Amino acid sequence: MALRMRQRAAEAQETPVPDFAPKIKVPPPGPKARRVIERDRKVITSAYTRGYPFVIERGEGAYAWDVDGNKFLDFTSGVAVNALGHAHPEIVKVVREQSAKFLHMAGTDFYYEIMVDFAERLCSLVPGKSKKHCFLTNSGTESNEAAIKLARYVTRRPKMIAFYNCFHGRSMGSLSLTASKPQQRRHFAPLLDVAHAPYGDLKFLDKYLFGKIAPPEDVAALFVEPIQGEGGYAVAPDGFLQGLRERCDKHGILLVVDEVQTGLGRSGHWWACEHWGIVPDILTCAKPVGGGLPLGAMIARADLMSWPTGAHANTFGGNPIACAAGLRTIEILSDGLLENVRTMGEHLARRLAEVSARQSQIGPPHGLGLLQAVDIIRGSNGELDGERRNRIVDAAFDRGLLLLGCGEGSIRFLPPLNARKGEIDAAVAVFDNAARSA
Ligand code: PLP
Repeated sequence: MALRMRQRAAEAQETPVPDFAPKIKVPPPGPKARRVIERDRKVITSAYTRGYPFVIERGEGAYAWDVDGNKFLDFTSGVAVNALGHAHPEIVKVVREQSAKFLHMAGTDFYYEIMVDFAERLCSLVPGKSKKHCFLTNSGTESNEAAIKLARYVTRRPKMIAFYNCFHGRSMGSLSLTASKPQQRRHFAPLLDVAHAPYGDLKFLDKYLFGKIAPPEDVAALFVEPIQGEGGYAVAPDGFLQGLRERCDKHGILLVVDEVQTGLGRSGHWWACEHWGIVPDILTCAKPVGGGLPLGAMIARADLMSWPTGAHANTFGGNPIACAAGLRTIEILSDGLLENVRTMGEHLARRLAEVSARQSQIGPPHGLGLLQAVDIIRGSNGELDGERRNRIVDAAFDRGLLLLGCGEGSIRFLPPLNARKGEIDAAVAVFDNAARSA
């Protein structure tokens, strides 16, 4: 009885969801979604990390429809990939045009102009005055793997440094850097020689890594995310990246900035490291750079990319359709969209702060631009509540909002970079109501 009264009181207080609202016709997963999931279970690996049963049929901008006709607001952007939202007409057009010319030719063995066009444009965006060269990949993992190899090749040193809660990928080299969750590493040893320090703690780095287990002259590269993504949207404290740059310069260590999740405008600058004026030796990227298609890059100063023919290569890196989509994405973003990221990012943070002020167990937003997260807190000591976080994400899904967790108890908000105010207001209103119900 008391529970029902509390539920009714909570419903009476629900935040009205504006016109941009999602529309749920059939409680998800509906019958068609359930059928797909049943078939999926029989053929797709159990290692994937699906949290809730969303089965997409099509998308448009910030919206995605499931196979049962439900309309969702997508605040995951395919994990920061769909920078311009779903099915942007310009991206669809260049994909059509390029696929009618040729689908693949292997940039490792042959030349094609769209690869050069894309690489010129991408390299021109990377901080630092020196000329850049890039190695094109198909994923973030592959970009970091290439960075590990280049760093070892150039320095002839064996070790690497990374930070607790970081995520750099899952292949054996990039997994050696990753220090995010035990299930990502369990039973995969032996890995490469990587020493980890707490994120933001320069003193620990000096005293315990350089001072005890990783003599700087043995360290090839130091890998850092300017905002730890999978680790919970921890923004680098001021002075941290600058401190790393100084130490790398002092010891001849290559500074690798992983912009796989933060890059290509999501933070409000082309690269998040620009917020601190940092020039990396190597920058790695992927997710949004192919405009929704698999494409990544390891970009280094031209003088560093000194390895000879055959030292590293791949078959699919720099696929022509992905390059065409990536180039068009950069052109569209260049046309005032970074300003949209900054203003909409502030708006999103403001709206989330209002929710946080109303609901004591939701922490204030943290992030930059349209890369924002809130922590779900248990009690008054700030402890993260991963279980309730998952319940809130599930409740948001039931109401038509796609969100993803990150870290131990955080929820991230990743709308497309061309998101509109109404979409943000609608998403936050749904989130607010979902959090109250969970
Ligand atoms: N680096 C960062 C910062 C990431 O967030 C991710 C993926 O989430 C990766 C690397 C790995 O990228 P991918 O999944 O494309 O291999």
